Order: sequence, then structure tokens, then C-alpha cells
Amino acid sequence: MNVLEIRGLGVDYQSATGAVHAVDDVSLDLRRGEILGLAGESGSGKSTLAHAVGRLLRPPAAITGGSVTFHRGDGTAVDVLALRNEELRAFRWREMAIVFQSAMNSLNPVATVGAQIDDVLRIHRPDLPRRSRTERAVDLLQRVGISADRRRSYPHELSGGMRQRAAIAIALALNPEIIIMDEPTTALDVVVQRDILYEIRALREEYGFAVVFITHDLSLLMEISDRIAIMYAGRVVETGGSRDLHRHPRHPYTAGLLRSFPRLRGPREELLGIPGTPPDLRDLPSGCAFHPRCGSAVAECSTRPPRLLDGVACLLNDEKGIR
Ligand code: SF4
Repeated sequence: MNVLEIRGLGVDYQSATGAVHAVDDVSLDLRRGEILGLAGESGSGKSTLAHAVGRLLRPPAAITGGSVTFHRGDGTAVDVLALRNEELRAFRWREMAIVFQSAMNSLNPVATVGAQIDDVLRIHRPDLPRRSRTERAVDLLQRVGISADRRRSYPHELSGGMRQRAAIAIALALNPEIIIMDEPTTALDVVVQRDILYEIRALREEYGFAVVFITHDLSLLMEISDRIAIMYAGRVVETGGSRDLHRHPRHPYTAGLLRSFPRLRGPREELLGIPGTPPDLRDLPSGCAFHPRCGSAVAECSTRPPRLLDGVACLLNDEKGIR
């Protein structure tokens, strides 16, 4: 059952030279309790998509079309793009929380982490007495691997990994149904990164929330995600179960991303990567935006844009296409 449905979502950035289509006609489902990985190179639109879903975009970015529907456990549906400011504030913490890449930027530098959890609880759960809020803050911190005494620490007194854990604890404060994690471990070393990933998975098992996990690191997503969506030039080009996508990538871009990471097991292989650079969103190539970099491209690829069919947007997989 889906907890979030994105349909035909578009986001433009207005620039002096015209509109930049950062997200173009994206449709995605997030199932209840799953971890959906969102991958792609810088500028592919993955963070813009997440910010649009959380209604966090600021001008010059603007949603140009589409819908985002949140399905509550009781069967009611919420039109996220139509929420008014007050409704949006409640929605963001109670039903959807967001963890950003740099916890230092999202945490308040002049408040202790305990006070920041307390703030969220005080505003959204005025029924909770102070003592219960304190207990909840301690419990949340311990669940993300931070000892109770660190409740009185300021963000600058914590390591990068601990700050990111604190940001996750704050996101969990009201038991949201969805947590969007925008490159939450990118700035951390690999050991801390792995620890946090395993904790996110364990917390998901315990609380049952769904996660949209955004990163450019596809190998990381393979480990943590149930399903993965690959974005290129503002569009979703492939979706699938993470194991299937790893073993049998169907889109040439996904295959290229997979060839860009070293394998931990098996014989040594030369890393091939993907030739060229991501396109300028102000001036996308005609047809399939990936065609100038695609080793499988044929003539039709430069004239006909592929549709996302059966989880793949490639003319080679399009039944009405060139195969
Ligand atoms: Fe490559 Fe053509 Fe498929 Fe685009 S449509 S990914 S250019 S084969």
C-alpha cells in the first residue's frame, strides 16, 4: 500500500535566460514502511524532488504541475501541494520529517540537542508534560546511539556523526510516517556512515516509517534500500527492486552508474564510468536526454523521448520503440 504518490510532478527554476526544468513529469510511489533510494549525479533533480515533496522549495524554484498525495493509515488522503501554512507545519513534523545533508546547518547552534527535541514536542504535543518530553528526548537520543548526558550538548560539541544522529532523533520525535533523508551521511567517514545506515534500517523496523533516501552513491543505496529510483536530467529513468536493479540494470545510465563503483568481491576490474558530463538543464539534448553519453544509442534516440514504461525510460525497452 502506498503512503505517498507523486504524479507528473514538475519543478522549474526561473533564471534570466529562461526556465530550468529541474524536475520534469516525475511519477513515483512510496510504499508504507519501505526504504526508497533516489540516486543520480549532481543536478539530476533528486534533491529538488525531495524539497518539492516536503514543500521546502524557495523562489526562484516553483512547482509547475503534478500532485503529491499522502495516504494516512486511517485511509484519508492529503493533497500535500494544497496544504496551507498552518497545516503544512503540522504535516511536516507529524507525518513527514526531513533530514538534511549537513546537520550543522539544520540544527540550531545556540540550543542543546535536548532542547531542540523538546521544542518539537512542546509545539506539536502540548498535551505532554515536561517530564514526559524529557523522557522522550532521552529515549530518542539513546535509540540513535547518543548517551542521555549528551542531551545537554550543543551541536558544536558533537562529532559530525553524532550531529547527524541528533538530526535523525529530532526527525523521529513525532513518529512520522515518512522520513526524507537528503544525503544524510555524505559528509561522514565510511565507518560512521555504515553505522548510521544500519541504525536507520533498525529504526525503520521498529517504528515502521517509510524512507526516501537520497544519495549519488548507488552502492550505498543497494545496501539500504528496498527499491531504487534512478534520476537523470530531472526525470526518473529506471525504478526497481534494489537487488534486481543491481543484477539486471535495464537502463544504460543505471548500468553506467553501477560500472562506476568498484566491486568489493570478485576479480579486479577497470572502472569504466559514464563518458561525458550531465547535460545543461537549460538546453537539454533532444529525444532521450542521455543519448550523447549512451553507448547503446541509435538514431531514433536523438529525436524521440522515451516514456517510463514498466519501470524503464529507454527506447530499447519501449514496446512501441525501436526493438
Ligand atoms: Fe540510450 Fe536510446 Fe535508451 Fe536513451 S533511449 S538510454 S539514448 S538507448
